[in-house]
Order: sequence, then structure tokens, then C-alpha cells
Amino acid sequence: MANFLVTGGSRGIGAAICRLAAEKGHDVVVNYASGREAADGVTSDIIAAGRQACAVQADMSVEADVIRLYQEAIGFLGHIDVVVNNAGIIGRTPILEMDIAAARSMLEVNLLAIMSSCREAARHMAKSRGGKGGVIVNVSSSAARTGGFPQHSAYAASKGGVDSLSLALAQELGPEGVRVVPVRPGISKTDMLAASFGFDQAMTNARSTIPLGRAADPSEIAAVIVWLAGPEASFMTGLPIDVSGGK
Ligand code: NAP
Repeated sequence: MANFLVTGGSRGIGAAICRLAAEKGHDVVVNYASGREAADGVTSDIIAAGRQACAVQADMSVEADVIRLYQEAIGFLGHIDVVVNNAGIIGRTPILEMDIAAARSMLEVNLLAIMSSCREAARHMAKSRGGKGGVIVNVSSSAARTGGFPQHSAYAASKGGVDSLSLALAQELGPEGVRVVPVRPGISKTDMLAASFGFDQAMTNARSTIPLGRAADPSEIAAVIVWLAGPEASFMTGLPIDVSGGK
């Protein structure tokens, strides 16, 4: 049994990770930004599965919120074994009209928030500070490698940053007993697609460009992430794992 903290656990891939972690016997703190009702739905499912769960609101792009989230999560769980930095946003940022403020917001949620979260996780887990070690899974995207949907360069760049950050932290935190693994999902059936490329367009794109001919169900991404967080993956750190149907 491990104790999980999942950021952006109220919907999509994050909710699937929370539910699967509970199914596998783990307790979970479910972070969300504003979707209180959805987060409560996830915690109810976890409790119904016989595990402990609580939902904690925190905007991961606000450093003080991240610090409070860790305090509340450690207060609830006792200690954290696994952090999944999953919260993320997407949006079009065509370079000819790029709104730098919008691009900055995306980098704050998708990259700087992960830095804050990794710092708090490292302070809690590092063996040199009396911690027990642990695992950090950072949710990147195949966009880091492919450039992503057209006119989504800020998103692709934020995810490239997640991969580089994870590799560097894996080196820094390996001796502290902490694995840091970036995971790159491909197109997955969640609300996020509606906010960017459009859900139907993304499904058409998936059928024609992904070797498996379809988008992922969030449960297929969650399965890999929960496995990576466990002891079977004890020699895996730093290098990105693609879960993208072969694209
Ligand atoms: P989603 O369905 O839009 O859900 C996003 C989650 O992140 C929600 O729980 C949301 O909370 C939370 N969130 C957003 N901004 C936040 C913030 N500032 N602080 C805390 N939580 C925040 O997204 P998804 O598709 O599941 O994506 C999850 C991760 O997978 C993201 O990192 C995304 O980039 C990555 N990914 C997705 C795809 C895809 O095709 N879907 C592909 C590759 C990678 P609220 O409910 O409170 O808004």
C-alpha cells in the first residue's frame, strides 16, 4: 500500500489515476483547481472502494497553494510515497499572434507548477532529510517530441520542459531514493481536447495518424502511470515513457 498525491485528479487522466490507485489498494489525495464537485465524485469512488481519500483545492501555479497542498496531504496521509504531477492546461498560441501573457500562464501551470511540486516532494521524500524516498511521475505529452497539434507551440514547449526537468531531477534525486519519471500520453479522450483542437477533430486526427488508429481511454494512461509508481518499475527513472499508440 502506498500513499498517492495526484494533481489535477478531478477529471480526465488524473481522475483515472486516482480511481485505479485506489483499486490497487492505495490511499489518495485528489488535488483540483476549481472542479470541487468532480473532485468530490472521485473521492467518493475511492472511499466506496475501501480506501482513504480527500480532495484538496490548490492552484498548482500558485506557490503558496502548492506548499499548503503538501501540508494538507501529509497531514491526511501521514506521508506521501507517490506524487503524480498531472495537472495541465492547453491552448492555441499561433506564433504570428502569440499572446505572451497566455503563453506565460501555460508555462506557469504546465512547467513552473511542476518545479514547485517537485521541490515540496523532494523536501518530504529525500533520505538526506529523513524522508523515505519515493516516486514522482510527471505527466508530459507526446507533443514534447512531435511538436503537438498545429499552432500549439507553447504547450509543446512546456512539455519539453517537463521532460528535461524530469531527467535533471532524476539525476539529482536518485541518490536520495527518489525516482522521477516523465510519461508522455498521446491523444486521450478527455475534456482537454475540447479546449484546444476540438474533440471531434482530435478523434479524426487520431484515427489517421496513430498506428493503433484511435485515441487512448484515460484508463490506458493511468495503468502505465500506476505501474511506473510501483516496485515493478524500481529501476526506471529520468527517461520518458511514451503511451501514445505508436505515434
Ligand atoms: P483535463 O481533462 O482537462 O483535466 C485537467 C485537470 O487538471 C483537472 O483536474 C483540472 O482541475 C486540473 N488543473 C488544471 N489547471 C490546474 C491548476 N492550475 N491547478 C490544479 N489543477 C489544475 O486534462 P487531461 O486531458 O486529463 O490532462 C491531464 C494531463 O495529461 C495534462 O498534463 C495534459 O497536458 C496531459 N496530456 C493530455 C493529453 C490528452 O490528449 N488529453 C495528451 C497528452 C498529455 P479542475 O477540474 O479543477 O479544473
